[in-house]
Formats: sequence, structure tokens, C-alpha cells
Amino acid sequence: MNYGRTFNFSAGPAMMPEPVLEEIRDELLNYRGSGMSVMEMSHRSKVFQQIADEAEADLRELMGIPDNYKVLFIQGGATLQFAAVAWNLMKNGKAVYIETGAWSKKAIAEAKKYGEVIVAASSKDRNFSYIPDCSDLDIPEDADYVYICENETIHGLTYQTLPNTKGHVLVSDQSSMFLSKPCKVTDYGMIYAGVQKNVGPAGMAVVIIREDLIREDLDPKMPVYMRYDIQAKNGSMYNTPNCWAIYCCGKVFKYLKSIGGLEEMARRNEEKAKILYDFLDSSEMFRGTVDKQFRSLMNVPFVTESAELDAEVVKATKAAGFDNLKGHKSVGGLRASIYNAMPKEGVEALVKFLKQFEAEYKK
Ligand SMILES: *Cc1c(COP(=O)(O)O)cnc(C)c1O
Repeated sequence: MNYGRTFNFSAGPAMMPEPVLEEIRDELLNYRGSGMSVMEMSHRSKVFQQIADEAEADLRELMGIPDNYKVLFIQGGATLQFAAVAWNLMKNGKAVYIETGAWSKKAIAEAKKYGEVIVAASSKDRNFSYIPDCSDLDIPEDADYVYICENETIHGLTYQTLPNTKGHVLVSDQSSMFLSKPCKVTDYGMIYAGVQKNVGPAGMAVVIIREDLIREDLDPKMPVYMRYDIQAKNGSMYNTPNCWAIYCCGKVFKYLKSIGGLEEMARRNEEKAKILYDFLDSSEMFRGTVDKQFRSLMNVPFVTESAELDAEVVKATKAAGFDNLKGHKSVGGLRASIYNAMPKEGVEALVKFLKQFEAEYKK
């Protein structure tokens, strides 16, 4: 059906799969004979408990999450986790961070409030256009963890190989790449993601954490909501959770299972990204801003020769019915976020438009 929906290239909140939105619409006023909307439902009800349990079970199946990892649904988005990670996991008060862009910078600034932060590698020297070599980092023996932002949403770069943590726990912010491809959970001590980039509506983070990292000997001043031990003990329902987001994300997990899981999702994402990157590499007007080997599959920043022309292109895309292609101010130019739910047709249409724009401009 044609709903008049636009190809929305927003970095987040972003597109959701249309079949999922249709199901949500159909269940909106009366969820499966319960007589009420999920928005109106007690989080302590059997019906909602089943929604939450299924969401967790489906996510575990999709990612192959082992039993010794907890899955938590926590409000406050990814930003709250910047502090929560440090406050919960800094037992020795020391952690190593890799600085690769805007979101790792924010995580570093927040972690510094709770302990010593050692920035062991950075790509700041070239405005975060590459991932620094992390094969032989200087990691103090007593560092509690090594932290990465695995896909930098604003600068558009991603890790090809994970850092060599030399036996230390790896913590990863996967917000803008969550469920975009298969993930070996056992490589990490903790993975977290704000869900509004690649999964569902804003206002929630998924936290996947190895049980032995969950501590109880925490700063007594720590807000109870931020404690992983309390969240884990209470099945993410110490207080009222973001029921709506859990419900919508659960639908997306089922949808991903139905299309063939994360392998198939990765295949589609690679196909989509290739269409756009191939165009950028062949264009004389546009160029990608990230070193090829570190290009993100999800966020594609690109520029022309001038800020004026960039602005002109953004304006033209908007007039042609494409939304949210303006680049972040720290990089400039344009950025196409092509998350899981962006159809291939959207990327093809954008490339066709940019090609035409370039051809006409040259005349
Ligand atoms: C968007 C984003 C965040 C912040 O997410 P909020 O849910 O708005 O707090 C953190 N990290 C990354 C990588 C992001 O893309």
C-alpha cells in the first residue's frame, strides 16, 4: 500500500520496517483481545510480561546471546549508559577508551566523572576519518575495561576488527549498528545500544552484559535506576519500563527473524551501502569523507568541493522528497543514514537523483 512515506535518511530516530508499523497499527486499539492498547497496559500484567519475555527471547536467538549474559531494557537512551558503564564497571577506577568520533568523545567526557580515563588511541588528528590501530594498545594491567564506539554515527566510520584488549573486558556502544550484521557476543563483556537508530522508537537502550561484570558493591550515591544489579534482579522492571519501546522492538526482532536473521540483514546492508559508495567513488562532484576500509555500512557522510554547493544539494534532495540528508555540523556536507529499515529502492533513488544533479551541474 502507498502511505505516501518518504525515504527518510535520518541518523535517528529513523525508519522502521513497514510491515512492523502495519502490525502495530492493527494492534493499536486492542492488543490481541486484551481490550486495551499496549500503551495502556500494566507492565505487571501477564499480557505485557509475555511481550517482554518474547522480545528478550527473540533477541537472544537473533544474536546468539549465551545464558551467562543478561539482557536489560533501560530507559534514558544510550547517553545514560555513558555514565552507567563507568559507574557500574569501574571497580579499580580506571578504564581505557578509544576516541574515534563524536560519540566516543561524549562517552569519554562522561566517564571522566567517575574515574581515570586513558585514551589509548585516537583518530582526532584527521577529524575522525579512520579507526586507529588497536592491535597493540598500552593497557594498564588494572584497567577495568576497554571501551569503543563500534560505529560512529556522525563521522561514519566503523571497526573492521575489534581491538586487542589483551584479556581485558571489551565494552561496545553499538547504537547505530545494532543488529545490522551478525555479532559474536562472547567477544564482549558488554554491548549496549540506543534503539532509535536501527530498531525502534526512541527512549530506550538495550544492554547485554556478562553476569560476572554485574557488581553489587557500588557507590551508595548511585541512582538506583542506573544499577545493573537492580535492573537484572528485577527483569528490567524495577520501575515502569518503556513498555511501548519494548513492544515495538520485539516486533522488529521477529521481523528480522522472519527475513532470515542477521546474516540476511548484513547481506542487504552491504548491498545497499555498495550502491552508494560505488557512486561516490565514481563521482567527480561528491566524495566520501572516511578512509575506505573503515567506512560505515549505516552512516555515509559525503561532501562536494564547497559548503555552498553542499547546501545546494541538501536543498535539492529535500525538494525531491528525500529527508534528513544534511550532514552533522562537525563534518559538514551530507550524510545518508541507511539503517536496516531503509529499503534498497531508497538508496537507488537517492543515487539516481545525485547522478542527475551532477550531470546537470556540469552542463
Ligand atoms: C545516537 C547515539 C547515542 C546517543 O543516543 P541517545 O539515545 O540519544 O542517548 C550514543 N551513541 C551512539 C553511537 C549514537 O549513535
